[in-house]
Amino acid sequence: MAEPITGGCQCGAVRYRCDGFGRASICHCRMCQKAFGSFFGPLVTAKGLVWTRGEPKIFASSNKVGRGFCAECGTPLTYDWGGEVEVSLGSLDDPERAPPVVQVNPHDKLSFVDGLSALPTVNSADTPEGAAFMAGVESRQHPDHDTDVWPPA
Ligand SMILES: [Zn+2]
Repeated sequence: MAEPITGGCQCGAVRYRCDGFGRASICHCRMCQKAFGSFFGPLVTAKGLVWTRGEPKIFASSNKVGRGFCAECGTPLTYDWGGEVEVSLGSLDDPERAPPVVQVNPHDKLSFVDGLSALPTVNSADTPEGAAFMAGVESRQHPDHDTDVWPPA
């Protein structure tokens, strides 16, 4: 049996499970840029989506679409256009399971997006200041699996 497909928001107030994936995409439209606070919206159709802890708050970004997000931590979670609901790729416990296969709405694509993978890379811990900062980080992010109790007592 395949691993269950689960995901949720950063703080853990909202968790979900689904049975399978439809098409995974990145959407370049200006609404997805705003809603994700990013360069594009990464989404995948979540078949049989159920909420296993809490539920997202919905913002009707247009007369056609509702966008779900965690009211506690702000994580973008869903895109509901009236058909099968899509979930944000980054909210999956394992985003590697749903690699994007198509780009949508290229008319709003930001000019620098195609060059992102060619940018130089640095590790946050490569400087003494960065290493000290990273060593002191205590994550409050929900782990990438379901939990019986969250946050831990
Ligand atoms: Zn949250």
